[in-house]
Amino acid sequence: MNDIIDFTAKAKETVMTPVSKFTGGCPHTKIDLDEHRRVIECTECRKIFEPFDYLLKWANGQQRIIWKITAAKHEAESLNNQIKELKRQKRNLQAQVNRLKKKVILE
Ligand SMILES: [Zn+2]
Repeated sequence: MNDIIDFTAKAKETVMTPVSKFTGGCPHTKIDLDEHRRVIECTECRKIFEPFDYLLKWANGQQRIIWKITAAKHEAESLNNQIKELKRQKRNLQAQVNRLKKKVILE
């Protein structure tokens, strides 16, 4: 009986691809948290995700949302300032028009 496995022959056939980041794995959005097996599993295709990678992906997504909210707040503040300036210019122009109307009436 031969119990020796030739790993050098297997290594030549094996192709390993390094995974540097979580790719999501499936297009579905609902998951089950299986407390007994301690896994995260897609409710539709039943794919199991590595918990840390899944949490990291979720955290990165949350951070992107926070950045977008912050950028939107800055843009809203800038637009509010532009509106205030335009309203100020409108008041000044209206005052000029009123002064010119009075001047024309007096002449
Ligand atoms: Zn899925």
